Amino acid sequence: MKIAVIGAGVIGISTAYELATHGHQVSVFESNGAAAEECSFSNTGVASAGYASPWAKPGMVKHVLTHLWQRDNPMQLNSLKLTDWRWLWQWRKACNSATYQRNRESMLRLAEYSSLRLRTLTDTLNLEHEKSQGYLVLLRSERESKLMQASLAVLRDAGLSFKTLNAEEARVIEPALNPDTTLHQAIHFPDDDIGNCRQFSLLLKNEAELLGVKFFLNTQVQPLTHSAPKTIRTSANTEGEKFDAVVVCAGLGSAPLLRRLGLRIPLAAMHGYVISAAMREQLDAPRSGVMDEQYKIAISRLGQRIRVSGGFELGGSATRHDPNVIKTLYQVLDDWFPGAARTQANVQIWKGSRPMLPDGPPIIGASGIPGVWLNLGHGASGWALACGSARAIADSIHGKSPDIDLQGLGLERLH
Ligand SMILES: Cc1cc2nc3c(=O)[nH]c(=O)nc-3n(C[C@H](O)[C@H](O)[C@H](O)COP(=O)(O)OP(=O)(O)OC[C@H]3O[C@@H](n4cnc5c(N)ncnc54)[C@H](O)[C@@H]3O)c2cc1C
Repeated sequence: MKIAVIGAGVIGISTAYELATHGHQVSVFESNGAAAEECSFSNTGVASAGYASPWAKPGMVKHVLTHLWQRDNPMQLNSLKLTDWRWLWQWRKACNSATYQRNRESMLRLAEYSSLRLRTLTDTLNLEHEKSQGYLVLLRSERESKLMQASLAVLRDAGLSFKTLNAEEARVIEPALNPDTTLHQAIHFPDDDIGNCRQFSLLLKNEAELLGVKFFLNTQVQPLTHSAPKTIRTSANTEGEKFDAVVVCAGLGSAPLLRRLGLRIPLAAMHGYVISAAMREQLDAPRSGVMDEQYKIAISRLGQRIRVSGGFELGGSATRHDPNVIKTLYQVLDDWFPGAARTQANVQIWKGSRPMLPDGPPIIGASGIPGVWLNLGHGASGWALACGSARAIADSIHGKSPDIDLQGLGLERLH
């Protein structure tokens, strides 16, 4: 089949690669001048099955509302538009226990499958991206530890491998953890990966090109239309080019592409920050990745750099930086790994926008319009979920049954 993929982030590139392995003739259209320049550009790199969980969960509404006034609260609401309020309303409806359990299970299934596929691709194709293994969740107090128990029970039931550690044991895993910062307990996920999402994407793009995939950069696709939903129109080709199938992997750009087809995709931009700084001293740096559960701030090591990320900001601007959030990132880095990074100069501060659906899981599958397929809305876990999502949709388009059940990952659940 002749297939168009819209978007060259980690989701579009991995989808194009998987389609090409099935022998299809694939073209990828990307509005930027390079691949992986939007949300896949500088994310934290945590590919964690346990942490790929819905943001909509019981107790979350109360938690967000009661902490909203705190300056170092990870969640911020800013100048909300009507669409943001609508999204929040849908999110609130999804915060019940039955919906959460269902979404949690779907995401876990996909994340575990993705993790396997990520490793297989990395190993078989020799994709040498910066990576390390293991993820440590740091709990500062007994209260945090108690709050974690429900999530851990779900992971235990799912057979996920993790270990609860005391402070001393945690320091064996991450010897540079600052002994002066109170650590009540830690949860270690030994099988989780930390990896450089952008590097992986660019390496996989090369592999896709070797299989014949064509990338059209600087090419913005116009919204798909009812009369010809499988025709790709761009400013350079207003007549359009016909395809047998179109896969929408356009992150936040997906909703406007699909609107004229009558598909309303409730995507919101959830902004977050990442600072990346050169490692100053290896002995003071994390070996892999950690998460400060109180501040919801992750610190990871990617090659010779340290990355610190956090912040969930709905509404507001994708480019304006909030100095308070950035200050908190530096503070948490200093709490756990003082002296690990050169933070005085040449620090890259990146604000990225997660393509968030209100309930949690992405949408993977048919759109209901013949020939138009969806692989979008991966929110805060797109790196963790990318390779499995891509394989599953490529199998579906190819007419082969995917290796995992896609129940709960379709568009129908949102309507
Ligand atoms: C601060 C932060 C930290 C994160 N940390 C993690 C993490 O540790 N682990 C994890 O798993 N995930 C993490 N994520 C989430 C992850 O980065 C995203 O889920 C993932 O990158 C989404 O990939 P994507 O390909 O769907 O979107 P994108 O990378 O945004 O790609 C979509 C592409 O489509 C293109 N496009 C859009 N519209 C059009 C159009 N009309 N025509 C042509 N092209 C178009 C865009 O230019 C873009 O390149 C983080 C995100 C942020 C912001």
